[in-house]
Amino acid sequence: MSSIIQLLPDHVANQIAAGEVVQRPASVVKELLENAVDASATDIKLIIKDAGKTLIQVIDNGVGMNASDARLCFERHATSKIRHAEDLFALCTKGFRGEALASIAAIAHVEMKTKQEQEELGTHIVIEGSKVVSQDVAVVPKGTSFSIKNLFYNIPARRNFLKSDTVEFRHIVDEFERVALAHPNISFVLYHNGSEMFNLPMANQRQRIVGVFGARTNEKLVPVQETTEIVKIQGFAIKPEFAKKSRGEQFFFVNNRFIKSGYLHHAVVAAYEGLLKDGCQPGYFIYLEVPPNTIDINIHPTKTEIKFDDEHALYAILRSSIKHSLGQFNVAPVLDFER
Ligand code: ADP
Ligand code: MG
Repeated sequence: MSSIIQLLPDHVANQIAAGEVVQRPASVVKELLENAVDASATDIKLIIKDAGKTLIQVIDNGVGMNASDARLCFERHATSKIRHAEDLFALCTKGFRGEALASIAAIAHVEMKTKQEQEELGTHIVIEGSKVVSQDVAVVPKGTSFSIKNLFYNIPARRNFLKSDTVEFRHIVDEFERVALAHPNISFVLYHNGSEMFNLPMANQRQRIVGVFGARTNEKLVPVQETTEIVKIQGFAIKPEFAKKSRGEQFFFVNNRFIKSGYLHHAVVAAYEGLLKDGCQPGYFIYLEVPPNTIDINIHPTKTEIKFDDEHALYAILRSSIKHSLGQFNVAPVLDFER
């Protein structure tokens, strides 16, 4: 019998990987924004048309790429962020899998312009369905600009599965807010169909939260702060009287990466014990800093769930620091007749 196993061609492998990495336009937004952050940009513009179905553009003023990297960045497992397996346990960047651009280029029309500061001329490259259509020398500003058009043009099932523009744009705003909140020291703007939706100048944490959620948020914030050997906690809890019935604003950042954690959420809920009216949920913006070798980020392609070495200790520290902060601000318990 002849052998029947074959290695898949790259463009097929890329398209399979894209299924995991790129669920919807918002996934592309997340990957491009994180790449811009990793490129040390101080100014990032996100331009969206038709909830990302027509155009997703990210322009950064980061370090840019030279001509050969500009081509290589679209290969699978091509990354400048790690070299060795042990680097996975000392991550200081958002990316490390080297998968995002290869995936995106497999399922969309991609145009990239990039230039490093010291270079006179930059690179303009066009890729469709993993194939390089053109690569030219071009006059472009320092930094990198990605335009992603016709997402899922070659995967009709995915394209048809997309929700209304309102829903898809909401997902994009969610990703934008998460990155913007994680990096107050970077300025961000977001345009949708020609209208400015957000304009966030460089700021501190509090100013950034207020910039994203509006001036009335300011009075609702109680500062939270704690430093121990295993974690540094900073951020804000929302005063119990402003708690909402709906989920509201609940954000955890670990080493400037937005994460979801049911377990840590529970620690916050426990800290609000006796302070919330029935059915209300606490709001919070909690920034945790932990040594990179005490977390594992490589559990899922989107990296929004991570594993902590010492989850129980974190739980206890978080709970007590929030409880302490709420107590300090003389937050009165909810009296029984108010329930
Ligand atoms: P990863 O972020 O996991 O390394 P990506 O596919 O997202 O993988 O990007 C591949 C590489 O392309 C990055 O490691 C980086 O070197 C380069 N790159 C991507 N986006 C940018 C950007 N905006 N500015 C400079 N370099 C970039
Ligand atoms: Mg990346």
